[in-house]
Amino acid sequence: MHDVIIVGGGPAGLTAGLYTSRAKLDSILIDKGIPGGQLLNTENIEDYPGFESITGMELAKRMEDQAKKFGLIIENDEAIQIRVEGKEKVVKCINGEYRGKAVIVATGGSPNKLNIPGEKEFAGKGVSYCAICDGAFFKDEDIAVVGGGDAAVEEALFLTKFGKKVYIIHRRDRLRASKFLQERAFSHEKIEVIWNSVVKEVKGNGRKVISIIIKNVLDNREIELKVDGIFIFIGFTPNSKIFKDDIKLDSNGYIITDGNMET
Ligand code: NAP
Repeated sequence: MHDVIIVGGGPAGLTAGLYTSRAKLDSILIDKGIPGGQLLNTENIEDYPGFESITGMELAKRMEDQAKKFGLIIENDEAIQIRVEGKEKVVKCINGEYRGKAVIVATGGSPNKLNIPGEKEFAGKGVSYCAICDGAFFKDEDIAVVGGGDAAVEEALFLTKFGKKVYIIHRRDRLRASKFLQERAFSHEKIEVIWNSVVKEVKGNGRKVISIIIKNVLDNREIELKVDGIFIFIGFTPNSKIFKDDIKLDSNGYIITDGNMET
């Protein structure tokens, strides 16, 4: 019986573990892989306060070591269900069950993928799902943004700070994004919208992205567009499937909480 069970070992889970352990609560963190979450997919980080430049791997390791120093126990296991038994919360995992007085859910989310050839291969080498993290690596280069929602248009506008040219590639003939963002994008000299088009493939030279293949969905014509980076913003899915039977989720899969972030 632990005081706190933390599910998920990304920066949020590790931070929770650092604080609960330091507060002398008996804390256990469960992660199915190596702790670090999406930090582990980030090569170089230069916007985390206190670190001018650090690899994602190194920052994750430091967070883990710091939390462990205060007594956090980290278990390598995969949570598959959570249930309440009286005053106990039970986290069922593949290798066993953990019981605690409270559970902190820090399972994060996953950006939706296009699932096209080259996307996985060049992730972190020109394919990105985070403009704030990676935009600065594309100074004076050509960038493609995929999607037509608020995230795509907002991030495309942000990327104009760095890129020479920013293409927004959208599968329809109108954007889903708010009118305000649309107006800003349409009037920006660096932004060009490629309508009715989907990205079929990401091509690279082994080291980095060099172009993408785009298909026009109206006439099926394909073109190769030279870009150095492709940012994909086609929605985000919270990793909350395992909680759906026991905790209330909203229609987008986010856990509904009260003002104390409690269910
Ligand atoms: P979203 O609103 O769901 O938009 C996703 C976009 O990706 C849509 O334009 C969609 O096209 C396109 N898309 C989806 N699957 C695709 C695929 N397989 N291939 C190509 N395109 C695909 O997601 P979001 O932009 O991440 O926004 C999520 C929520 O956060 C929204 O409620 C949004 O308003 C909010 N948000 C707000 C702000 C802000 O206010 N500043 C910023 C970011 C996000 P279709 O249009 O054809 O469906």
